[in-house]
Amino acid sequence: MYYVPDGTTKCGYYECSVCGSRFLSLETEDMICCPDCEADFDPEIGPEEASAVGQKTAKLISVCEGEDVAKMDTLLSLAITGGNYEWI
Ligand SMILES: [Zn+2]
Repeated sequence: MYYVPDGTTKCGYYECSVCGSRFLSLETEDMICCPDCEADFDPEIGPEEASAVGQKTAKLISVCEGEDVAKMDTLLSLAITGGNYEWI
């Protein structure tokens, strides 16, 4: 499992409205913080830009339960790694 721990039975499938990143989270709230946007945060930048950090930019697309969790995790993981099988 790439996004959520093994044995996860319920998770939220999110898409960030800022960077377009799609990911799974153990949270199932309507809006949560995007891990990619958070990671881009540079503490050296002034307070104006920093104000964007911590905003909930990722929108809940759907809630995955049961074996769908593992399926979605695998699909999204392949997308992130570039679908290497296409190069074979
Ligand atoms: Zn983002």
